[in-house]
Amino acid sequence: MTTTSTPGREAELRDNLSAVRERIQAACVAAGRPEDAVTLVAITKTFPISDVRALAELGVRDLGENREQELKAKAPDCPDVTWHFVGQLQSNKARSVVRNAAVLHSVDRSSLLKALSRAAVDEGRVLRCLLQVSLAEYGPEEAATGRSRGGVEPAAVPELAAEVAAAEGLELGGVMAVAPLGSDPDEAFGGLEVVASRLRSEHPGADWISAGMSGDLEAAIRRGATHVRLGRALLGTRTPLG
Ligand SMILES: *Cc1c(COP(=O)(O)O)cnc(C)c1O
Repeated sequence: MTTTSTPGREAELRDNLSAVRERIQAACVAAGRPEDAVTLVAITKTFPISDVRALAELGVRDLGENREQELKAKAPDCPDVTWHFVGQLQSNKARSVVRNAAVLHSVDRSSLLKALSRAAVDEGRVLRCLLQVSLAEYGPEEAATGRSRGGVEPAAVPELAAEVAAAEGLELGGVMAVAPLGSDPDEAFGGLEVVASRLRSEHPGADWISAGMSGDLEAAIRRGATHVRLGRALLGTRTPLG
């Protein structure tokens, strides 16, 4: 794995970053929201540490990974940023995520909480937790097959939220979602906005909405996203890991 990037790659990342910042800014203006209302989280999965460092040097303060192995490999090499974990999590990887990330976007079941809480207490850290909400009802295919891109059903959010809020070492931060394939992202993220606002009425500090990826960030920002998670628009096409 290369550890420094070529000048060509740095220029490419700089261009992509300014294009993405312009998209975010334009979407905020169009939605009548302040331009600093949205935080960009760069999802660096499958890309080398040289890209991570280059983005940090370009001023990106929030970086994310979706596999524990990659998070563990990259985060210690770039400690001056906030690391986010956005992938499916297994309980036996909880400690590694607590050590290497400050924010977990994908809390989708209560059985994770014991391991997360214990690890956070042991490590003397506080992990900000977002509940991943299933928007399957907005995706034709997912609604038909019952399969979803993950997350807790909207109706189960209050109970899971109360458990996170009560867990030592964990801080309830808000919600996260991925728009289902084939859905209208405005509708799907509109559904998320309702879930988020109900959550906030019970837990005022849980005010983050992590929604929007490279293809649908404008819709997410219209629907109140506070954090957009961008991979391809910043880093380019991914080649799948073997
Ligand atoms: C990969 C990934 C992203 C970024 O997706 P792009 O389409 O590359 O912007 C966002 N969220 C999660 C959970 C991801 O796994």
